[in-house]
Amino acid sequence: MLKITPIPILQDNYVWLAQHQGKTLIVDPGEAEPVIAYLKQHNLTPDYMFITHKHWDHVTGIAAIKAAYPECVVYATGHHDIPCCEVALMGGERFELMGLTWDVWHTPGHTLDHIVFHTQGQDDNGINFNHLFSGDNIFACGCGRMFEGTAEQFHDSLQRIVSLPATTKIYCTHEYTQANINFALHVEPNNTYTLHRQDVSSEQRANGLPTVPTTVGDELKSNPFVRCNAPDVVRAAEHFSGKVLGKPEEVFAVIRKMKDTF
Ligand SMILES: [Zn+2]
Repeated sequence: MLKITPIPILQDNYVWLAQHQGKTLIVDPGEAEPVIAYLKQHNLTPDYMFITHKHWDHVTGIAAIKAAYPECVVYATGHHDIPCCEVALMGGERFELMGLTWDVWHTPGHTLDHIVFHTQGQDDNGINFNHLFSGDNIFACGCGRMFEGTAEQFHDSLQRIVSLPATTKIYCTHEYTQANINFALHVEPNNTYTLHRQDVSSEQRANGLPTVPTTVGDELKSNPFVRCNAPDVVRAAEHFSGKVLGKPEEVFAVIRKMKDTF
């Protein structure tokens, strides 16, 4: 059985820890101490690390974890010089690891080096699963800032992610959901699913629970950054920019700008 656990680090990041067939994987260790503490507490030895992109809050813990567990192999984006990287990935690779098949996609937008890791299969009960480690690409009801690349690239990357089956679980790396929902409701005030998500996430946070992973289905219903054809999203973007916007990537560019100053 594949088990995926969030380890909270820093202010509002999550490191994801996946366990399958006796192997352990760590995704985006932006800090080492909480990860090593979790591993020791649960008597685990990490076998692999996956790194989605170059930002400090995703890579700072790599060297210390590697020092503590030298056998742990680092798979990282090959579009940037990532510390301790042993397997550099450009996107388009498929490989077997810990009894799972992994696909790597290059998803530029937040940064140009960004990659995501997708695995799909059947669990012990014959039920299909899809899991995506998405870094700072798509978030619950939002997306990462556009530090590099074009709106068109970022829009394409996000559309590729939401083309996965609706039940796909998205393991993003930040607890930004509540702020994202506030912005989503500013863009689409009448989206009843987003209003429902607001209630659900408020309750989760009040109980000290993470609001992620999210799913492709949830994002398609409520995330304005993947809903650039929805009439209210287009209307909000056109109102903000003061011009008629013909293409979804133009709408995306405007709402990304709106969010930066929201
Ligand atoms: Zn980032």
